[in-house]
This record gives sequence, structure tokens and C-alpha cells, in this order.
Amino acid sequence: MSKTKQATKPKQGKIAVEAENIFPIIKKFLYSEHEIFLRELVSNAIDATTKLKTYAMKGDFDQELGDLTIDVILNKEEKTLTIKDRGIGMTEEEVLKYLNQVAFSSAEDFIEKYKDEANIIGHFGLGFYSAFMVSDEVEVKTKSYQKDAQAVKWSCDGNPEYTLEYIDKEDRGTEVVLHISEDSSEFLDEGRIEGLLKKYCRFLPIPIRFGKKTISEEVEKEGKTETVSKEVDNIINDTNPLWKRNPKDLTDEDYIQFYQDLYPFSEKPLFWIHLNIDYPFNLTGVLYFPKLSNSMDYRKNKIFLYSNQVFVTDEIGQIVPEYLTLLHGVIDSPDIPLNVSRSYLQSDSNVRKISSYITRKVVEKLKEIFTNEREKFESKWDEIGIFIKYGMLSDDKFYEKALDFVLFKNVDNTFYTIEEYKDHIKDHQKDKAGKYVFIYTNDPENHNLQIKAAKDKGYDVLWLSDVIDPHFIQMLEQKLEDVRFVRVDSESVEHLIDKDESLESVLSEKDQEKVKTLFEKINDQSGVIELKALSPDAPPVSIIKPEFFRRMQDMQQLQGNPMGSMGGMDFFNIVINTNHPLIGEKLLKMRKEEKKEGFAKYLVDLAMLSQNMLKGERMTDFVQRSIEFLK
Ligand code: ADP
Repeated sequence: MSKTKQATKPKQGKIAVEAENIFPIIKKFLYSEHEIFLRELVSNAIDATTKLKTYAMKGDFDQELGDLTIDVILNKEEKTLTIKDRGIGMTEEEVLKYLNQVAFSSAEDFIEKYKDEANIIGHFGLGFYSAFMVSDEVEVKTKSYQKDAQAVKWSCDGNPEYTLEYIDKEDRGTEVVLHISEDSSEFLDEGRIEGLLKKYCRFLPIPIRFGKKTISEEVEKEGKTETVSKEVDNIINDTNPLWKRNPKDLTDEDYIQFYQDLYPFSEKPLFWIHLNIDYPFNLTGVLYFPKLSNSMDYRKNKIFLYSNQVFVTDEIGQIVPEYLTLLHGVIDSPDIPLNVSRSYLQSDSNVRKISSYITRKVVEKLKEIFTNEREKFESKWDEIGIFIKYGMLSDDKFYEKALDFVLFKNVDNTFYTIEEYKDHIKDHQKDKAGKYVFIYTNDPENHNLQIKAAKDKGYDVLWLSDVIDPHFIQMLEQKLEDVRFVRVDSESVEHLIDKDESLESVLSEKDQEKVKTLFEKINDQSGVIELKALSPDAPPVSIIKPEFFRRMQDMQQLQGNPMGSMGGMDFFNIVINTNHPLIGEKLLKMRKEEKKEGFAKYLVDLAMLSQNMLKGERMTDFVQRSIEFLK
């Protein structure tokens, strides 16, 4: 190669054979991903700069590094976008080698096969060529860091033909000038470019400057503070993002601030996990437990995946277990293969290792808070509970581990682990088969009466009202053989619990028969009438839905199908408490049959009212009759 600084006659040539098909293919198949050209070119500039820093550190480069800031320059008049670095640059040979040779032979087959993989370009040494997706012509002016290097300019208009000439270039490094094509004019928009830089380059390790910006600053002037505007460099990125730093140097505020930078307008996260592992794979990151609301509308897929601080994607479904996609934050790993199909990802051993590493870390963190800060754990239970239950439902390994710290809250706001709860109820809430009976409500307001009755009998009532609870309950019953759940308004709760002290009915057989016949006569509902000798303090009449039926309804409601295949049928039984004074002393003593029926109906309506089941005409009628009774 001639070392003259004089520009020689332009060289001409043809890009290596395989490239012949590359440009149209790139243009065609990566249409929706045109914007990534910027990520690719800035990443190349970062690589070149980082390499130079490494050489300097090792002593292979002994000149001044100077300011290494990378410039992205938009020139609307010229319709160019330039990416300029002060990295290692390229010699003439290197230009010919790197820019003219595409690294593999059957490019067309390859791209055809993986055209759906958004990140294909960057990971197959095709990054630079993505420039042609948006440009009519690309010029590369470059000067190697090596002593006395001759600067060269390579240019190409997207045909395999290229020109190469010597140029004068003051600075070491590379300048890639894109002549933006007509159909890509969006990339001549400042806001668009800044947006892209923010998206892909926000945490790159070398400063990236995109022109200037105006900031306002407070200054002291003659004892007064004044606000003045000032032009400063518009630096896009945070070169030392939080996840790359040592947790020892970070405060809670730092983590919260970083979270709010990532997700503006979000509520503060509950807590976080700083990930950092070198072996057997390299991964750093921070995962946050977001504040979840009690709805099915969980904000999934909010984790950002980076590879050496370059943003890759926010679709990480295959890399972490499904339930962990509820977490937020950043994972940065160069060891996640991005160049393969999605189904392959799941079977990739690194991905599996990463996934179980993250699960382990999450479990450790939860267990740590549970053990050391039980109060905090409990106070955040409403939010982390959903997450833990979701995890237990979807991942057996997580289930096993979470059994130790999954909590149950009772209606008095006391929290128990499963074992603690069993111990709490062992003396009085076991059924004949020896199973623990977990009595619960999903709606304390509506079950007020039943809860009171249960508590009066010395039972404990759990509060399980998460949308996920019907599924969670079912799973626990399947997996834990000694536990069953009964909703507080189900088939009379004590019926399920062997207390061996069921009451005698105060009514004679004959009177009981009378009561039953009367209620059967007035019953216009689908269920049956049951007589029970309950405590005189229990309601005279109660509405009981069989547990199985109720759960089916809950599940259907969850699926957004309030009536479901039940066709709107509402099945429940009516339980008459034969020991209640209103039955034995009032109802049976009424003389007129008509009056008896009216009163019985009234008691049933009252029971329905307490279940929020009295609607429409029946409600109006009930109110009218109440007024009659009061007269
Ligand atoms: P990759 O970066 O994946 O290797 P590219 O097609 O993006 O593939 O780039 C090919 C090669 O060109 C790079 O490996 C590098 O050697 C060289 N190169 C690209 N951009 C620059 C730059 N800004 N400075 C120095 N060398 C560069």
C-alpha cells in the first residue's frame, strides 16, 4: 500500500461475490427493523473506541486518547447522517477485508431462514451493511490508530461496486456518512434520531453526543438567583449504568431513581435484586419487583435485555420463566444467543442455566426478606403475594421453594405461613378425615354475617381475594393432601368440621317436618331446603352455595364469563336453623297459613339480602313487606 498522504486516483472494485445479493435482501426482509442501522453503526463505533482504550491500557497505544466522545451528526441540507468516532479506525487492508467481505457464503439462505429474527444483523457480522437499508450511498472515512496510517475513503451506493481513495484526515478514527434515501427520510428527523439513540444507546459505555441542547440553570447574581439558559452538549447516554456498578456503592435512592428513569411515571418498586455472575455465563442486571395492582392486567414484558450495554429487546419471554416476566428491570448478558430461532432458545443450555439462576436469585431474595424483615414482607404481601402465587402455579420448582414463605392473611390481618396456620387451627378446624379445613372469604364485606358466625364458633377465617386465588386454592388442595378450603358461606361450615358437639334440635320431629314443608312450599329457587340444628345465635335462614359450584362460578368469572356454561343458573341451598327462636317461637306459633308463608318468605329474602342476591322486583317487594312488618 502506498503511504503517500496524497490522495491517489480512486480505486474501483467489486464487493465479494456473496455480497451481491445482500443489499436487496437486507432491504427487503428487514423492512420493519430499518431503525436498527443506527444501533449497529453506533455499536461499531463503541467497539472501535473500546478496543483503543484496551490497547492504551495494555501499552500497545502510547499516544493521547483525547476526547473519545462519539458524535452523531444530522445534516438536513445535505440529507446525511454521520456517525463519527475516535476509535482504532481502519487501514486500507482492513477496509477491504472488513467492509468488502461478508463473513459467510450463503447469505440469502440464511436471511431467508431467520428473517423473523429482529436481531439477526448485528450478530452475524452484517451490522455495517444495515446502513444500506436507509441510504442511497454510504461513505466511510477512516484513519487507523497505527503510526503513519494513510486515511482512506470507501464509498458505495448499494451496488456491489465501491470506490476507495486516499484522503486527508486529521483525526484518528472512523466517520460513517449515510446519504439517507428518499424513502427513509424519517431518519432525517431530529426527534426520531434522538428517540432511537435513547432507545438503543442509552447505556452504552462511551459518551455519545447528539448536537447541543439548551438547559436552564440557576445562578447567583448580586444576591439573587436567576434562571439562565445555556447551551451544552447533548449527551445521550449514561456510560456507567447502575447494573454495572458495585452494589456496595449504591443506595436505595439510586435503585429507585434508576427504576424511575427506566419507567417514568411508575410507582416506586417494592424491592430489587442486583444480578452479577461471571461463570458459567456472564450476566449482570437489576430486577425490580414492581408495585402490582390486583388485576389481571399485569404489566408483563417490561424487562429490557442488553448485550454489553447495547439494548437488544424487551421480549425476553424465552429467557426467564414466564412468571418472572412480571418483574421489571434490566438483564445484560452477551451469553444469550440472539441469532437463533425462538424454539431453539428454550433448549439452549445457557438460556436454561440463566433462567434457573434468575429463579434462584428471586427465591433467595424473597426468602431473605421473609426471614430477616418479616414485617416488611407482610406489609408488601398484597403485591408480592400475587407474584408468588403466580410463580407457584406456573413453576414446580418455585412452588416447592415458595411453600416456606407463601403467606395467608386472615380477616383480622394476621399473617401465617402454611405450617404456622396449620398449627394455629389444629385443635378445632380438622374434618373427620383429619384434613385441615381452611375457611376463607373472598369478600369480607358481603360475608360479614357468616364471618361473624364462624368466629363466634372459634373458627379462623382467611382472606383470599386475589384474582388468582381460586386457582391457587385448587392447586394447594391438589398438592397438599392434608388441606381443604371451604368458603365461609359454603355448606354450613361446621358441617365440615368434626367438633363432636353438634347441637340437638329444640324442635320435635313433627315440628321440623312442618317447617320443612312450609319452606319447600314457598321455595321458588333451584336448591333444596335443609334443616340444621345450629346455634340460636346463627341466622335463622342462610343461603349456602355448594363449594364446587361456587368455585366454578369464580373461575368462569375470571375468564370474563360471568354466567358461563351454567346458563345464568344460580344454584344454592336454603338452610333453616331449627334452633333459632324466630323459627320455633315465632313462625310455628303463627296461626294463619298465609301469615306463616309470608314470614318464611321474608326470612329467605333476608338471607338472600345478606348475600347480595336480592335484585329487582324481589327487592322492591321485600322493602314493602319490611315496612308492613314494622307497622
Ligand atoms: P461486526 O461489527 O459484527 O463484526 P460489521 O459488519 O458491523 O460486523 O463490521 C465489520 C467490521 O468492520 C468490524 O468487525 C470492524 O472490524 C470494522 N468496523 C466497522 N465499523 C468500524 C469503526 N467504526 N471503526 C473501526 N472498525 C470498524
